[in-house]
Amino acid sequence: MRSRLVPEFGLRQLANHSIGWWLQTEDLPDRKNRVRVVGDKLYLDYTPNNTEAHDRLIYRWTDVLKAVDRSAENPVFRRGLYPRSDTSIQVVANQCGTCCFGEDPKTSVLDLNCRTHDLDNLYVIDGSFFPSNSGVSPALTIIANALRIGDRLIERFFCSRRFCSPVHSIDDRLIHRLQNFSPTSPT
Ligand SMILES: Cc1cc2nc3c(=O)[nH]c(=O)nc-3n(C[C@H](O)[C@H](O)[C@H](O)COP(=O)(O)OP(=O)(O)OC[C@H]3O[C@@H](n4cnc5c(N)ncnc54)[C@H](O)[C@@H]3O)c2cc1C
Repeated sequence: MRSRLVPEFGLRQLANHSIGWWLQTEDLPDRKNRVRVVGDKLYLDYTPNNTEAHDRLIYRWTDVLKAVDRSAENPVFRRGLYPRSDTSIQVVANQCGTCCFGEDPKTSVLDLNCRTHDLDNLYVIDGSFFPSNSGVSPALTIIANALRIGDRLIERFFCSRRFCSPVHSIDDRLIHRLQNFSPTSPT
């Protein structure tokens, strides 16, 4: 942290007495928000949307922090500062929706089981299926969806009524794993 206006000692004091909060909200679908490859260069096009919801979350959380500060016994701690800043365009991590799923082939690439509308035996099972950004970090949803589609693939390609026992639902399997989880057991 460097600044021409505040000496480094002051900045260090500030940092040592600060708490950073990361607030994340949903970016709504926008076909113009995308990654493009032109020649050997990557371009990221991004125009923020849904900013009112984001602002409201920040104001609400700031009110909570102010209420906490006001309840401090020592009056010194009742005067907090609540600056806000947005991440730069370089900080991107949760891109999604490049092959979004849906019922209508005109508006989606994949059907609800993540099979392409156009090709019978092509499935896409990663973060691209999201029809909208989740507003929370997506990895667990990507994993849960992959397990769900795995069940569909087993049912479709490996199960015949005579030879296959019923496939447990994703809920059953997750509950089973959680019940048998111990920090020392191999994953
Ligand atoms: C810095 C950072 C921090 C993040 N933090 C979090 C977090 O805290 N929580 C959270 O939920 N999410 C987080 N995410 C987002 C999360 O990591 C991604 O959304 C998720 O990993 C996407 O999963 P995916 O399977 O779609 O793609 P990926 O995980 O990117 O997997 C794609 C795979 O395909 C491989 N591949 C690519 N091209 C080819 C090819 N031509 N041939 C063969 N293989 C290929 C790649 O090597 C890669 O292994 C973070 C992302 C970043 C970048």
